[in-house]
Amino acid sequence: MNVADSDWLTRSLVSMGWEPAPLDEARIYIVNTCSVREKPELKLYSQLGRLAEQLERDPEAFVAVGGCVAQQLGPKLWNRFRMVRLVFGSDGVAGAPTALARLAAEPGLRLSLVDFTENYPERAVAFPDDALPAQAFVNIMQGCDNFCAYCIVPFVRGRQKSRKSAAVLAECRDMAERGVSEITLLGQNVNSYGLDAQGDGTSFAALLRLVADIPGVRRIRFTTSHPKDLPDEVIALYRDLPQLAPSLHLPAQSGSDRILKRMGRKYDSARYLELIAKLRAARPDIFLTTDLIVGFPGETEKDFQDTLALVEKAGFDSGFSFMYCDRPGVAAERMEGKVPLEVKSERLARLQTLLDTLKDRDLASRIGRETEVIVEGRSKIPGNGAVSWRGRDPAGRVVNFPHSGREDITGAYVTVKILKAKKHSLWGKAGERHD
Ligand code: SF4
Repeated sequence: MNVADSDWLTRSLVSMGWEPAPLDEARIYIVNTCSVREKPELKLYSQLGRLAEQLERDPEAFVAVGGCVAQQLGPKLWNRFRMVRLVFGSDGVAGAPTALARLAAEPGLRLSLVDFTENYPERAVAFPDDALPAQAFVNIMQGCDNFCAYCIVPFVRGRQKSRKSAAVLAECRDMAERGVSEITLLGQNVNSYGLDAQGDGTSFAALLRLVADIPGVRRIRFTTSHPKDLPDEVIALYRDLPQLAPSLHLPAQSGSDRILKRMGRKYDSARYLELIAKLRAARPDIFLTTDLIVGFPGETEKDFQDTLALVEKAGFDSGFSFMYCDRPGVAAERMEGKVPLEVKSERLARLQTLLDTLKDRDLASRIGRETEVIVEGRSKIPGNGAVSWRGRDPAGRVVNFPHSGREDITGAYVTVKILKAKKHSLWGKAGERHD
């Protein structure tokens, strides 16, 4: 979501006549932040420290800080860092370009855009060039109402507000007319799209069908899904909607029913595995990934074993695992039974070993198959004399391949026969191109 926000902000500023500049030549710096874990927050402080030294030479240059850390700290940031003149949260992104223009014109002014709005804050259309890259993100909602015990998101992104379906579809149509063929619908909890007070009666399943009807849209992805809200209607679309990419990121977080309850996730491991079975029945080649937290307060070795068992049973193709860390204000911060760091590290290493084995197995299973790859750009892997390219198969796996033509094939769809599995990607031989 931060990548999508940064992309829009860049397009918007370029449409206003501003130019991107190298770090040592810029006059205005925009830092977009995340506070889901502690590390990115600490990175912000070290980055601002470096910028403070750099900007001593140019008193008119300034910094804008956006995203979740800006939402959390607000004007406290400019008390600590004199050169910060704008703070904006996720609802403030829409107003950031106008605020930046004001700040550039009025030295000495400082602005804060951290109030939550009641409705989804629509952003001005910003397409500086006629053509766009083939892949794009489209926001469908903002915020979250779930308050999972470990999560800071509802505090820094506000309560859930769905964007009107007409606005979502208009943006998708505009993008498709400018060459976008793969759209990723974004929201903190996309399966509850339309269920809040701002919903307009269009469910997430209905929205997926409407996006698929737009001429030029060849692949649709979405993220993120909460297992408690994934309805059968959406699962059935994996069977019925060819444009829906065969992949789903479904965060399980734990395999222990006791820990899932403490996390406030409102499903148990049996329900989770039932969803996995239904998804595989609807689309046997579906690529399933997940998020898992180790060392949530109170997690015992038995709870952790339940997580390993869930991973084995679900047979994920890949997964992301994290050590629990306290975030300010969340319910788990006040829970008893904090797990020592060395125990969390040891569990994380065991879980990652298992997830790596499953990923290797998935990549190896692709060898010998043909797949359709959307090309994202040049690959760094040498192509035996030819230029090599990097793209993604329908499931989202990275595929590299050499291509003999001289033209830029970014955005094209190419059939690739998979020859080799590497650690994180596949290597293949290009066949027919079909744009
Ligand atoms: S559903 Fe996701 S974003 Fe919302 S509180 Fe839970 S973990 Fe955070």
